[in-house]
Amino acid sequence: MKTAEIKRRWLEFFEKNGHTVVPSASVISSDPSILFNIAGMVQFIPYFTGREPAPYSRATSVQKCVRTQDIEEVGKTTRHGTFFQMNGNFSFGDYFKEDAITFAWALLTTPEADGGLGFDPERLWVTVHHDDAATIDLWLARTGVPRERIQMRGNADNFWHTGQPGPGGYCSEIYYDRGPDYGVEGGPEADEDRYIEIWNLVFMEFELGAVRSKTDFDIKGELPAKNIDTGMGLERVAFLKQGVENMYEIDEVYPVIEAACTLSGKSYGAHAEDDVRMRVVADHIRSALIIIGDGVRPGNEGRGYILRRLLRRAVRAMRLLGVTDPVLPTLFPTSMEAMRASYPELEADFDRISRVAYAEEKAFLRTLESGTALLGHAVEKVGRGGTIGGDIAFTLHDTHGFPIDLTLEMAAEHGVAVDESGFTELMSEQRRRAKEDAKAKKGGLAKDLSAFSALLESGASEFVGYDNLSADSR
Ligand code: ATP
Ligand code: MG
Ligand code: MG
Ligand code: MG
Repeated sequence: MKTAEIKRRWLEFFEKNGHTVVPSASVISSDPSILFNIAGMVQFIPYFTGREPAPYSRATSVQKCVRTQDIEEVGKTTRHGTFFQMNGNFSFGDYFKEDAITFAWALLTTPEADGGLGFDPERLWVTVHHDDAATIDLWLARTGVPRERIQMRGNADNFWHTGQPGPGGYCSEIYYDRGPDYGVEGGPEADEDRYIEIWNLVFMEFELGAVRSKTDFDIKGELPAKNIDTGMGLERVAFLKQGVENMYEIDEVYPVIEAACTLSGKSYGAHAEDDVRMRVVADHIRSALIIIGDGVRPGNEGRGYILRRLLRRAVRAMRLLGVTDPVLPTLFPTSMEAMRASYPELEADFDRISRVAYAEEKAFLRTLESGTALLGHAVEKVGRGGTIGGDIAFTLHDTHGFPIDLTLEMAAEHGVAVDESGFTELMSEQRRRAKEDAKAKKGGLAKDLSAFSALLESGASEFVGYDNLSADSR
């Protein structure tokens, strides 16, 4: 089943069940204090908090998401993309747990021939918060999932809140068992590589008082209007339905791996390290395509920095596969072709998108050689186990356009560390100077984290806020 078909079935199912189909918001968050939308619920936050009345009581969407905090997982796990699509159904004070559970089970287990996703119910597992006995009863009564395949978890995994007083509630997640070839028995508690998390149901039912940490908070009482927020990973469902090994091998992603093979003359599946590189390339190219499509340009700050990092990481991974010529003029059209059934606007806007990408690759290739040489000398000088000075990392960044992460990665490949705090100091010094020069130049990304109700800190929606950005862009 093609990814676009899964998406179509999803929207059709929830529309039939009274949900308003809402288009994906841009991948760029409208809240300046987070960089990218990281979950389907983000565009509905005003309705969940009651700041604005919801124009509908039920909604569904397939949201473009970017989670930069998953970048290190990409290509190594089977299931983390920097870009991915989150299918969601939402209730604003309308239906609650019982219907959320019934909908999810029906869509997953209805046979393909009858319009469902056709998952074998015997392979589905469920997690429930250990204080949420009512939800166990609902699973048993409404779906027939046996008690042995329901696992109890605590606040760390199965409670969602915003990180501050306000709404919160239990979660219940659905996992798919890939079978004994993929890991040990024992449900998601035992092995999250074998048991793949596909769908998170969040029940917003409490008003929280003090929130001291992810797991430590006070429940003040029940919310007057209870909400449902769910998120299903479209690529995860696609890879399970398509019978491939991971989300980078689905119809919307795999053609880029094939193109990387053609360019490098290497075969996928022959060498574990190369395979990771190919998956990284496929993921990053697709993410960059979407991010540029939504209007971001490469730069040294914020979203532009993330984009730059994705593009340069992809180019560098291709270098490690042995390709020194420009690669984006091959990889970008390939990715666009694979994505255009779902995102026709990528094709319409491809001239502009590709120009942005190719210019970035050109700029990077111009300095990659000299930067690599500089780094090579530094590495040789300090030797394995040594540490390169922050000034070198700064020059690599400033003159050769090496994102710090690239420097760290390349140094680590030679068993060498980098004086990051020295680098950070030089960077802030430079920023300070730039700021003085530009006088009251407006603060770019809002620094006012408090304005953003860290609503996304956990559960369905990991918050990738300014902390994460500054860690990224040091
Ligand atoms: P995981 O534990 O696997 O990292 P998560 O608990 O962080 O996932 P949620 O925040 O619950 O994920 O998001 C809802 C759904 O979105 C998940 O059940 C999963 O199917 C999907 N999802 C989350 N992160 C990613 C990602 N980086 N790439 C692809 N799909 C994802
Ligand atoms: Mg996660
Ligand atoms: Mg999880
Ligand atoms: Mg989850």
